[in-house]
Amino acid sequence: MLHENLGINSQNRLTFCGYDTVELAKEYGTPLYVMDEDMIRQNCRIYKSALEKNFGKGSMPLYASKAFSCKRIYEIAKEEGIGCDVVSGGELYTVYKSGFPMEKVFFHGNNKTDSDIKLGLDCKIGYFVVDNKEELVELNRQAAERNINQKILLRISPGIDPHTHKAVVTGSVDSKFGSAIETGQAMEIVKDALSMSNLTLDGLHCHIGSQIFECEPFTDAADIMIRFIKQIKDETGYEMNVLNLGGGMGVRYIEEDAKIDYGKNIDKIAEKIKSFAENNGIKMPIILMEPGRSLVAAAGITLYTIGSVKEITGFKNYVSIDGGMPDNPRYALYQSIYSVVVANRANDKKDYVCTIAGRCCESGDLIAENVKITKPVKNDTLAVLCTGAYNYSMSSNYNRLPKPPVVMVSKDKKYVAVARESYDDLMRNDL
Ligand SMILES: *Cc1c(COP(=O)(O)O)cnc(C)c1O
Repeated sequence: MLHENLGINSQNRLTFCGYDTVELAKEYGTPLYVMDEDMIRQNCRIYKSALEKNFGKGSMPLYASKAFSCKRIYEIAKEEGIGCDVVSGGELYTVYKSGFPMEKVFFHGNNKTDSDIKLGLDCKIGYFVVDNKEELVELNRQAAERNINQKILLRISPGIDPHTHKAVVTGSVDSKFGSAIETGQAMEIVKDALSMSNLTLDGLHCHIGSQIFECEPFTDAADIMIRFIKQIKDETGYEMNVLNLGGGMGVRYIEEDAKIDYGKNIDKIAEKIKSFAENNGIKMPIILMEPGRSLVAAAGITLYTIGSVKEITGFKNYVSIDGGMPDNPRYALYQSIYSVVVANRANDKKDYVCTIAGRCCESGDLIAENVKITKPVKNDTLAVLCTGAYNYSMSSNYNRLPKPPVVMVSKDKKYVAVARESYDDLMRNDL
């Protein structure tokens, strides 16, 4: 099986975290997001203990909550003792209302509005990850108005060539995020930040991309960032306390993808980072990482009910489900590949080639193309695996479809974490 929380029971049905998925679909209705709370916690612990072991107290994972944001996930992150990063006023408001320790919240974004900045200060967040000069000036102005000193990190683009590592797409010189070292703009914003009366520059941040399976892109980025920290020390005498290496570790979506041992990867990356710091004669900074996908993706599946099975003779077979791009836009957006299983006949022969289509008025509303599954019939349950990241958080109400609920399961309990939207919910702001 793709991940250890999946199985097949004596009734030939797919199980998830020990639960019969057909029964879950019956009990809660479809489409349905199911999340494995135990696996989320286990992943938090793997990152937390690996970072602490290698870099000492203060080093921790920050959950990149854009992967899956709701009140409950912040409660889990709080209980696991990790930090969080947010990228919008809405995520910030949710984490605040969940009772999360705000000093462990980091606020990202390449274009925070003045009211985003105000909300961050109102909520007394730990750090702003400042992207640009305008933000720096506005944040300093608002902090001065309040007579406080706000801690910040600066988002830096290490200038890693995405062609060397094709998964790496947000840390290149021409990225919309942060300031590039190569152009001199990173050094410029560091000096600007150091001159701000109401800001404390505590460290640097970089995020090089997503769905990265190897360690090299991370160690390459760390190498560049640590040399930059050394250069800052030489030019200004100021030494950074924190280096945040961002998120991006990969997840196994299909059998062909490699299994990743996050703890071992962190060990490998740590060894390199320590030698970089030593070679450059700088003190070892506190290392932060921001896993999103790798904490929650494999901890989620989506269950659908199959409607029509349409065979266009000589062309294609379409299997239609009662969800689609509104609850999982990732295939429509970037042809992301998923594993799909007919959950009520999980062990049967998978020899039916088909395209899984949603029910929106869009030809691009697909979940998978040319996949091999057991030949389905109406009312079968279809499971799409590894949907815990960037599905619920990217969902929309396109075609005025209500969003599915999120049910959390663990060894000893199951409960609704996010309720299913009703038609009245859809109309709640219509005047
Ligand atoms: C998206 C993002 C992450 C998380 O990336 P994953 O690939 O989900 O681990 C972390 N940090 C920043 C700044 C991001 O934009």
